[in-house]
Amino acid sequence: LMQLSIPLNFIGFVYREIRQGLTDIEQMFDLLEVEAEVVDCPDAKPLTAGPGAIAFNNVHFAYDPERPILKGVSFEVPAGKTVAIVGPSGAGKSTISRLLYRFYDVQQGSVTIDGQDVREVTQQSLRSVIGMVPQDTVLFNDTIAYNIRYGRPAASTEEVKAAADIAQIGTFIGHLPEGFDTKVGERGLKLSGGEKQRVAIARTVLKGPPILILDEATSALDTTTEHEIQSALDVVSKNRTTLVIAHRLSTVINADEIIVLRSGEIAERGTHNALIEQGGLYASMWNRQREANQAEEHLRQVRESD
Ligand code: ADP
Ligand code: MG
Repeated sequence: LMQLSIPLNFIGFVYREIRQGLTDIEQMFDLLEVEAEVVDCPDAKPLTAGPGAIAFNNVHFAYDPERPILKGVSFEVPAGKTVAIVGPSGAGKSTISRLLYRFYDVQQGSVTIDGQDVREVTQQSLRSVIGMVPQDTVLFNDTIAYNIRYGRPAASTEEVKAAADIAQIGTFIGHLPEGFDTKVGERGLKLSGGEKQRVAIARTVLKGPPILILDEATSALDTTTEHEIQSALDVVSKNRTTLVIAHRLSTVINADEIIVLRSGEIAERGTHNALIEQGGLYASMWNRQREANQAEEHLRQVRESD
């Protein structure tokens, strides 16, 4: 019955998402396909909960055998630390997060959590220790409370409110006429990208997993929103093993290690200061972003003076 109920449940989930006017339909089908591909091994055991140390050991991966995506990637995220992955679009950054969550299996090498190969543990136990804040959050056509509580259905109202406060969306919700009972989604209140991301953060706070994967939004958030989200994420990732896929380099300055991925290989790695000093790919990405920010700032000033 378990074998049957999980896929049915998942199809129900996909159906609801599609009905709601899914923004990222392609990704949803990716998930569907993957769900069918990756199954628990016959003697799968639940993951033994530990401090949450992640290791990628010489990982090779390709969606299509003709086209390798990751070519021997090795790195560790020690328990409680933060590692950032940056690099050009298409480099394989999001693929790393999908392998950790085991949407796909590696073709060579291994991915481990506290020394346990993710292929040898039950998917349910694996996914229960990982919280994912995706690039693009899709909300259910239901109340804000429902959308937050999705992280841990048994949570009390107080816990839902506390999670919203940590994600810095509690005040915003408090000002809505119907508060936490406000309906959101396609047929309810439309939330901005930043607000949706904060709902996703609240959901993850409520789940309280030892491991976090943050795939930052690519869409340019305004500076205030960016700062608010960043400080919410700082709170959430404190004392949790965190893998952050960063598009805005300003958010990775404090990471314990920054990994620069290029065409599926680690091109550079180190702290922000060390990489700037090195004057390589990271340094040039950093300079380019700074120039872009300055140009944007200049444009704003010109517009305001009109
Ligand atoms: P990044 O997050 O660094 O932008 P991704 O990890 O999403 O890059 O993708 C790496 C490469 O793998 C890209 O060239 C992308 O087109 C390809 N890719 C991603 N998902 C799939 C998929 N489901 N099937 C085939 N190719 C894919
Ligand atoms: Mg990506």
